[in-house]
Amino acid sequence: MSHIDITLEEAHEYIKKEIEKEIEHYRCEHDIFFQAVEEVLLSIAPLYLADDRYAKHNIIRRLAHPDRIIKFKIEWLNDKNEIRVNTGYRVQFNNSMGPYKGGLRFHPSVNEGVLKFLGFEQILKNALTGLPIGGAKGGSDFDPKGKSDFEIMKFCRAFMRELHKYIGPRMDVPAGDIGVGSREISYLFGEYKKITSTFDGILTGKPLFSGGSLARTEATGYGVVYFTEAMLEIENKESLKGKICTVSGAGNVALHTIEKLLEIGAIPVTCTDSRGTVYDARGVDIAYLKELKFNRRGGSLEEYIVKHPEATYIPASEYPEDGHAVWNIECYAAFPCSTQNELTDLDAKNLIANGCVSVTEGANMPSTPEAIATFLKNKICFGPAKAANAGGVAVSNFEMSQNASMLKWSFEEVDAKLKETMYDICHNVAATAKEYGVEGNYVDGANISAFKKVADVMISEGI
Ligand code: NDP
Repeated sequence: MSHIDITLEEAHEYIKKEIEKEIEHYRCEHDIFFQAVEEVLLSIAPLYLADDRYAKHNIIRRLAHPDRIIKFKIEWLNDKNEIRVNTGYRVQFNNSMGPYKGGLRFHPSVNEGVLKFLGFEQILKNALTGLPIGGAKGGSDFDPKGKSDFEIMKFCRAFMRELHKYIGPRMDVPAGDIGVGSREISYLFGEYKKITSTFDGILTGKPLFSGGSLARTEATGYGVVYFTEAMLEIENKESLKGKICTVSGAGNVALHTIEKLLEIGAIPVTCTDSRGTVYDARGVDIAYLKELKFNRRGGSLEEYIVKHPEATYIPASEYPEDGHAVWNIECYAAFPCSTQNELTDLDAKNLIANGCVSVTEGANMPSTPEAIATFLKNKICFGPAKAANAGGVAVSNFEMSQNASMLKWSFEEVDAKLKETMYDICHNVAATAKEYGVEGNYVDGANISAFKKVADVMISEGI
């Protein structure tokens, strides 16, 4: 044992600073949750003015408290046979509308605050679909990057050994999110079956051969584009056909947003990952991007310009201060599809200065509150995440229906239902905004419509 040469007072000082850091860390961890709650609550004011039942039933306090937060330890062995420990979570937020439903995220940034924010948003998003699903979110601070297939499998199995105690096909049905794709869902589902000996539709986003739904992988990205088309139609703006679009991200949501944009004749010219941005003025080569990001997991976007030297690669280190290169590029419509708070007020101003007419959120809460305020002030058609990216969870619900009835729907059938759902959500949000005196404001329209649905069930069921 070695001694450190400091006084007792200095030791106290050091410990106090450490405690302060811990308190600050805890406060920051929950900042993102308060940001989400505040954004929703401020925009439902017209509902409180119109009906005093919501205040009488204390809905705000009740809705902002998760039903329960389950936190557990995950112990697993890496390839060197070293024992690793991570933290797992499931935030079962609210099941007024149906079984808890929401994705699992594996990313080092995962903590209780991030999952509370995502779970809270999920309650409202799921309510907007009009389908019987409640809100939840879960995940772990485990970082899948750089891990072998075998390590991913061992981690997923250890995660499910705990999680299976708290989920069920009529109780809580998780799905994927950042870091959790069909490979991880397969490992999780395999372990669930081993433990319980049942083939329940306990997870969605499963591969086809394990009871997954056709079009689930594509659903969120395709849905984002369907929502945008509906919004532009309602707002009497030109359609996306032939228009330049910018997209951030290069994961599931971004790739399928790009794919659908190309399919309808738009020209998506960008994609990004945490290391940089690709700008290809002729339109992104989606087949190569998929090869890079899906088939060769973790491939860098830098490789894109090796195949396409006429495209430009902008490393993240060269981004403008407080902004992102992707939002500096001229476009008609923008689609932030990577992560929360990725589009700042500076980015919003750059987009507007460059003639952008429409912004649709593919990721969850990618625009900062200041950026949203700037979009709304400038009458940009703004599709908020909880409405625009609800296509994924809608098709997850279709997967649950197929599992429960032991039937399989065709790709076309699922895609048609997805399109109809996204158009319905968009029209319902627009109509609600009009009804409550905020016409054209899809943020308030979505928040009021979703909040009302959940609150009305809570009131009717009592405490
Ligand atoms: P993926 O893990 O497939 O892709 C995420 C993408 O975002 C990657 O390109 C990743 O880059 C980038 N990214 C992640 N974190 C950061 C960061 N901090 N800074 C810069 N880039 C980052 O996730 P999904 O596409 O599934 O999800 C994207 C967003 O959409 C999330 O907000 C998710 O919650 C939301 N969403 C997803 C749904 C789905 O069905 N998958 C449904 C509804 C919402 P890199 O690989 O370099 O890390």
